[in-house]
Amino acid sequence: IFNIEGVKYFSDKMKLVQLNDHKTQELIERSMLDENTAIDTVTAIINEVKNRGDEALGDYTKKFDGAELDTIKVDEETINSSLSKLDNDLVKALEQAASNIAKFHENQIPDEWSTEVDEGVTAGQIVRPLDSVGCYIPGGRAVYPSTILMTVIPAKIAGVKRIICCTPPQPDGTVKDVVLAAAKVAGATEVYMVGGAQAVAAMAYGTESIPRVDKIVGPGNIFVTAAKKLVYGQVDIDFPAGPSEVLIIADETADPAFIAMDIMAQAEHDPNAACALVTTSKKVAKQVDILIAEQLNNMERSEIITESLNSNGLIVVADIMEDAIKFSNAYAPEHLIIMTRDPEADLEEITNAGSIFLGELTPVAAGDYGSGTNHVLPTSGCARMYSGLSAESFVKKPTVQRLSEQGVLNLDEMVTKLAEYEGLHAHAESFKLRTEKVKKELN
Ligand code: NAD
Repeated sequence: IFNIEGVKYFSDKMKLVQLNDHKTQELIERSMLDENTAIDTVTAIINEVKNRGDEALGDYTKKFDGAELDTIKVDEETINSSLSKLDNDLVKALEQAASNIAKFHENQIPDEWSTEVDEGVTAGQIVRPLDSVGCYIPGGRAVYPSTILMTVIPAKIAGVKRIICCTPPQPDGTVKDVVLAAAKVAGATEVYMVGGAQAVAAMAYGTESIPRVDKIVGPGNIFVTAAKKLVYGQVDIDFPAGPSEVLIIADETADPAFIAMDIMAQAEHDPNAACALVTTSKKVAKQVDILIAEQLNNMERSEIITESLNSNGLIVVADIMEDAIKFSNAYAPEHLIIMTRDPEADLEEITNAGSIFLGELTPVAAGDYGSGTNHVLPTSGCARMYSGLSAESFVKKPTVQRLSEQGVLNLDEMVTKLAEYEGLHAHAESFKLRTEKVKKELN
């Protein structure tokens, strides 16, 4: 903690540091999800579901969600009628968000292409959707209709035929209308009332009621994430997602009121959420700190926000913008807001971030709901190597090649030489047979 120009802060909510005084590595550390603590519980759940199928799902749903179900699947009529039970304004909001998300993700399908890599040798890729996917929709402490849109719509755009959703039921054995309505708007094919590790196990191995899928996506708590890691290989998964986070890069032109609210908006997700401001302006740093201290107690979720800011809140003052950006790249935040004089220019230097929000008029909330981009994003520094969920997450790209006679003659020596060097005689022979045929035909 340091004093800027001798000002004493009345907030001790966030850690306040001068970048030069600290090692970057120390500053970028924040809460990680340690799934290892849930591994034993989750392994047992997965084995039970593998062995006892629906019966095990019923037992766990009773134990963890307090619901006794006759059937796990939500019937079509209930899904279809869910929209009519909502306020018109809410339906409109869901539809506008869905339309924007669809428009954005349509651009993400990779191209099919083919090129002549050597004379007579063409090679390329085709694009095919996965057959079936499972979307995990968290439902423990809150409802997330937006997560249905963010997982189902990209799969739909990619051309996946069977898109199932699993979400824990409420204790009365139902799923909230708004969740079912979102499933309907997004185009999910089925909704099942099951949550946690047991839902992941069911989608990975299949039960009497729930089909086995090719890929499981979507956020969830520690049990869901641990289960996804354990079934990886049996099915594909998106990536492990931990507590949510934001990093804001700001210069002296940024409005501290916007920054303070964006920080609190992120912190209200989770006591383990991480929020960082990196600024070249001591004045902005100070004002943000003061504004948060002033407003915090009036926020609806002030307890969660306080806990998050105390454990993972950080205000960093950097001497120059280059240092601020370097710090942000090392942090690799899930969400990055750039509130500087020229955000587009600063964007050029950004290498690691899940989703980027340019300019003071673009809060993370826009991307959470409906600027079109996906909100299922890599956390805990994983933006160094992962991108967020996208339409591309739901396609495969088989490669294709074809050799002409000339192609066979061009590759003959190279292939047989390398195959023989690797001791793979049949490989070499398989090629030589073609070469002989071509040579015969040419004579
Ligand atoms: P959840 O649906 O992930 O988990 C509820 C389930 O956890 C229960 O059905 C139960 O099966 C299981 N469970 C609970 N206690 C257990 C125990 N002791 N042993 C075994 N299993 C147990 O809902 P949640 O808990 O509210 O968590 C949702 C998470 O998803 C939050 O961390 C939230 O921040 C995150 N989230 C992230 C995004 C995003 O896009 N990044 C969006 C929405 C939600």
